[in-house]
Amino acid sequence: MMNHAHHIVTNDRRYPTAPQSLNFVFSINEDYKRYWDAYYSLVPFLLLYATAVVDRLVSELIKFDPYSFSWREMERFLGLIFYMEKAGGSQQRKASKPVFKELTKLFTVKCKCGHHNALERADFKLLYDGGVLLCVKCTSQIHHYKEFQQKMVAFFNGGTASPSKTTTLDNT
Ligand SMILES: [Zn+2]
Repeated sequence: MMNHAHHIVTNDRRYPTAPQSLNFVFSINEDYKRYWDAYYSLVPFLLLYATAVVDRLVSELIKFDPYSFSWREMERFLGLIFYMEKAGGSQQRKASKPVFKELTKLFTVKCKCGHHNALERADFKLLYDGGVLLCVKCTSQIHHYKEFQQKMVAFFNGGTASPSKTTTLDNT
């Protein structure tokens, strides 16, 4: 698509200009739909990848708090899953079920009320959309718990090869 955008006529066999046409000049609604489909099938993933690379590079220069770094990784991870579910509909949502099943196994957080919260898709959606995790029994904000933060850091392997090991996590 970029080559079509840059050149009025392309003759590369992978992306030739249609016979008796000029790239983008005589586009019709069907073409626009195809352009948008191509855009949204690439750009979100490119942006997610670019931000991950930038975070890694910056983490080589600046000591990140491991939890903050892992939080950013988690946002991208969940964002990717929810974006794919939205784009792929029920079929993709079905495909992401095993992912959330594994996440549930990894992220069970004991609340101060004693309840063990096995985090499910809805919990991760709330975490992604609102930045909070609530105990289903007493509605305490369990995302502040050291146990949860440590699990997230472990899940993303500290988020980097050089996280600060001196950072302490609050256990509220
Ligand atoms: Zn609780």
